Amino acid sequence: MVGEAKLIENRVGKPVSTDDLFRFIKSVISDEQQEETGPFYVLDLGATRSLVETWFHNLPMVQPFYAVKSNPNPAFLKEMAALGTGFDCASLHEIETILSLGVSPDRIVFANTCKPESHIKYAAKVGVNLATFDSNCELEKIKKWHPKCELLIRIKVPEASGSAFMFGSKFGALPEEIVPLLKAAQEAKLQVVGVSFHIGTGAINFHSIQGAIEAAKTTFDFAAQLGLPKMHILDIGGGFTSGPKFTDAASAVKVALQKYFPGELADSSLKIIAEPGYFFANSPFTLATSIIGKRERGDVKEYWINDGVWGSMNILKDDHDEVICTPLTIKNPTCEGLKTWNSTVFGPTCDPNDTVLKGFKLPELDVNDWLVFHNMGAYTSSRGNDFNGFKTSAIPTYILALMPPRKQEK
Ligand code: PLP
Repeated sequence: MVGEAKLIENRVGKPVSTDDLFRFIKSVISDEQQEETGPFYVLDLGATRSLVETWFHNLPMVQPFYAVKSNPNPAFLKEMAALGTGFDCASLHEIETILSLGVSPDRIVFANTCKPESHIKYAAKVGVNLATFDSNCELEKIKKWHPKCELLIRIKVPEASGSAFMFGSKFGALPEEIVPLLKAAQEAKLQVVGVSFHIGTGAINFHSIQGAIEAAKTTFDFAAQLGLPKMHILDIGGGFTSGPKFTDAASAVKVALQKYFPGELADSSLKIIAEPGYFFANSPFTLATSIIGKRERGDVKEYWINDGVWGSMNILKDDHDEVICTPLTIKNPTCEGLKTWNSTVFGPTCDPNDTVLKGFKLPELDVNDWLVFHNMGAYTSSRGNDFNGFKTSAIPTYILALMPPRKQEK
């Protein structure tokens, strides 16, 4: 969600440098120093563009359908639409949001295996004609409300160990359920055009993609044996992270595609799509929070900040990533050369588990100093809530926009 957006120019069209990012954050803080400033995000659209370029450079044969749920910030979605991605929508409201950007319905996959009937009806009305399923009940609803919809059977696959979110306990047909589901679709005269899966968000080791693509190939073969029209879409889901791990993940995907779908790759008869959320959403967003309280317990300095695990840092509840933060004081902006202390950082709510950092080295900070958290886009604002009245949904986002180069002045 976005409270207020302020545009500044990011002329280069690449990620802003850390120095420029901090200069911008300081300008927001000092503009608003007179009053207590709440937390805010900074979205770097240059970083967004460069991630999309990285994706197409490494996986040119895989069309990304950005998973809107990971961060539905309007400026971010608009940029993704302009950069030519498709969208994975989970609900009527997400579809509505994407269509309102002028994106055509054929750039949307309705990738929630269990959809309310009213949402299926809406998809039929607006022409979203590609959706996932993994149960008989879903087939019955689709038969009733959207029989022309093309379907991807979502299968349960071996998940990547260490993922932040694993999906297999809730999503995906079990191996023994696949053939009965394909038969049920065939009898209902529904078109199953392909297979989807998800190996887990924040997959540390992408080698499990091999097993997932192999399982997809087996499903394609089952469909052929049943006499269904040839499947032609493979949806490899999400799980990607940006940075050096992405090139390894992309190589693992390419090796597995080559192994299991060599003919289809050679004659381009297979449409390959993915549903990355974390990859695109995480690194372009930075979160600035301020210190609202302080206490000393022995050698440990304890701080309270104005956002926490019921807000932007909710991913910590899933035992995921440590958050990476940089302190920022107004007096000594870089905090460089300062003595550091073992510190604990609490979020603002009355929940004792609302603890963001423990045993983290920080210089001595004061109320109204700032902690800046990097890589804070994925499943942060979209997944936080308003517990204790601290409204994640009202945190504003400042946008470092891309601007065309200024005309030469005469
Ligand atoms: N597709 C589906 C169906 C999902 O449920 C999710 C995440 O919850 C995603 C894609 C995005 O996954 P990731 O953020 O790991 O790329």
